Amino acid sequence: MKSSCREVSNLKYNSPRIKILNKKTILKVIHENHPLSRSDISEITGLTPSSVTRLTKELIDEGYIREIGTMGKNSPGRRRVLLDLKKEAFLSLVFDIGVNITTYGIGFFDGEVELRGTFNTPKNPEEFFKTAREIYERISREHSITRISFSVPGMVDLEEKKILLAPNLGWENVNIEDLLEVDVPVLADNEANLSMLAEKYHSEDLRNVEEAVFIIIREGVGTGLMVDGKIFRGPSFTAGEAGHMTVNMYSDRQCHCSNWGCWELVSSINWAIEQYGKELEGRNSIEKFQALKQKNDAKRVLMRFAENIAVGIVNLVNILNPELVILGGEVVDLGDSFFSIIEDFVRQRALKAAVRNLKIRPTAFRNISSNLVGAAVLAVEDIIEKVR
Ligand SMILES: [Zn+2]
Repeated sequence: MKSSCREVSNLKYNSPRIKILNKKTILKVIHENHPLSRSDISEITGLTPSSVTRLTKELIDEGYIREIGTMGKNSPGRRRVLLDLKKEAFLSLVFDIGVNITTYGIGFFDGEVELRGTFNTPKNPEEFFKTAREIYERISREHSITRISFSVPGMVDLEEKKILLAPNLGWENVNIEDLLEVDVPVLADNEANLSMLAEKYHSEDLRNVEEAVFIIIREGVGTGLMVDGKIFRGPSFTAGEAGHMTVNMYSDRQCHCSNWGCWELVSSINWAIEQYGKELEGRNSIEKFQALKQKNDAKRVLMRFAENIAVGIVNLVNILNPELVILGGEVVDLGDSFFSIIEDFVRQRALKAAVRNLKIRPTAFRNISSNLVGAAVLAVEDIIEKVR
């Protein structure tokens, strides 16, 4: 339960600005802890019950939230009506830009996503955003889209809407708004940050956790950091680029970041494919890795792959002291044996105090990518931020 907005309620004067701030506060706590009763909202925000009653009525009338039923039917005392964000109130178009395949869908105001389609990711950004615009125009004919939100496999300047570097795509300094002229706000963030964001809002075991790490293993390796309950991006939006921490000082392999011996060189799916060394069916690395997972003679490579991933987790655990490390991307279905190798390695090598309360698990998202859901959550946050 968060109480960071308490000071707003303590201001005794009732200006329109304070009212807007209080409405945003209510929307944020419902978004983070949904569903909630009016008394829960009062308890979390510190707003008086009468203010909560008045402001939630306005938010219902304005179409932001709705009553979704009651709880406490069988217990003595008053039944409590539960409130949630109104799913259809605001729709966003969300894209998961993959190195080979891009997936897109519709994001709802409650943070859920409905998948709509996929396409081969064009190699140049101009082509990509032309395709994105066509999809936006097509979907806008059926639905009122209020935001377009992109998950990017690289570093993104959130304020400038600029892809600083997506190395596996070869995109550098791409200003999205220059290439995508649309009449709705455009948002973008790194795929690991968005995955962390999605878990923060959807997973019960993160409700009371302030420090967590999301590691996404695909053609590259991305890391999303949650510090003090917030996504930590750093002043230049490069925080969490843990794929480029040096794990082998003596490596003669140079990374595309220009350093040698980066973690990503031994923990991306490309490492496993290369180590396996035999022909694998598939048009791209993702398909080849899927084929590799089915091979009986790939077990040894996968065991070493788990250890390589664990080396980076040891470093992250020692630096950040997270309570939860979540793995996403192409390794989530590798099963308990893969995860126990990682778990045992980290418990043996990381600082004892750092692993005492540590949990390592695969992402909660299986049929949909965590970062696509994160792109929808980013849109919801922006909509709440712009409430007037
Ligand atoms: Zn590197």
